[in-house]
Amino acid sequence: MAMYCDTCKSDEEHRRLSTEEKAWLRHRTGRKNVEDVWVCTRPGCRNLRTGFDKRPFAEHIRLP
Ligand SMILES: [Zn+2]
Repeated sequence: MAMYCDTCKSDEEHRRLSTEEKAWLRHRTGRKNVEDVWVCTRPGCRNLRTGFDKRPFAEHIRLP
């Protein structure tokens, strides 16, 4: 899904997180619900956002 990426500074394709990635993010942020999170698929980016918020976390979080 094409959405604005706050680290690419452009509209990029995003995908939903895998089960393993969701578990990693819950641990990383302490959030219980990460179902609304998308990851930028531009090579080398992997920055996270939600459907409504381009920067939902205090700092940018990229998947490892
Ligand atoms: Zn990006």
